[in-house]
Amino acid sequence: MRKPLIAGNWKLNNNIAESVGLATAILDNLGCKNDVDIVIAPVFTAISAVAKVCTGSNIKIAGQNCHCIDAGAFTGEVSAPMLADAGCNYVILGHSERRQLFGETDCFINAKCYSALQAGLIPILCVGETEDERDKGEVFDVITRQITLALNEISQQQVEQMVIAYEPIWAIGTGKTATSNEAAEVHSFIRGVLSGLYSEQTANSIRIVYGGSVKPNNIAELMVEDDIDGALVGGASLKAADFSAIVNFPKSLKVAPR
Ligand code: PEP
Repeated sequence: MRKPLIAGNWKLNNNIAESVGLATAILDNLGCKNDVDIVIAPVFTAISAVAKVCTGSNIKIAGQNCHCIDAGAFTGEVSAPMLADAGCNYVILGHSERRQLFGETDCFINAKCYSALQAGLIPILCVGETEDERDKGEVFDVITRQITLALNEISQQQVEQMVIAYEPIWAIGTGKTATSNEAAEVHSFIRGVLSGLYSEQTANSIRIVYGGSVKPNNIAELMVEDDIDGALVGGASLKAADFSAIVNFPKSLKVAPR
């Protein structure tokens, strides 16, 4: 059984004081929860302050991105060891906004995954198709390409640390969630790809979370699916009450120590 994981991606929102306030409210609501892994991803400038507030708690911190080289002449970048130093345990990589707005390629994302793992961070690797690709019946081709290239040269031991986030781009920030059947179909397909690249045992140990307009009112129907191990939450993670309600999805549906 895989332990559920719910991660909040705060994107480019909240200054340091606001981030600390949101983290404190989440901690007040969820500080005692240990049947779900909880992750929050503030902006870079707020990571240290938020990490301080969450030290010793069950709330872990993620970077929203990192560079693939540890240090050097890369103006404006932040590296994986720097995120770890600031208090991160996780890093979100390959988010569709990075791919679409900042031109990140599968190959670049692969290098970032490798670098993150070397720094002791858990990559949350995002994959997902556009609406056009879904309409053209290309979902499985796109997912196969994204997973295969992002995991190039990543060992079995390394991949077992990772989290995969299936985030159909047409569902991100649009209010259009994939149905639980649509999401489950792709999650099961991703597990099959992982099984082919590594082994069935490895594939079964990796958490695959869903992202795309997850809200308190749709988390339960997603979590009931065997292959959906949690969620990557954007908009709804910016309100402590909504994020907490998502983390507190009906417990009887999945209870699992990892
Ligand atoms: C995201 O940005 O990863 C995301 C899933 O956003 P939202 O929940 O707002 O759709």
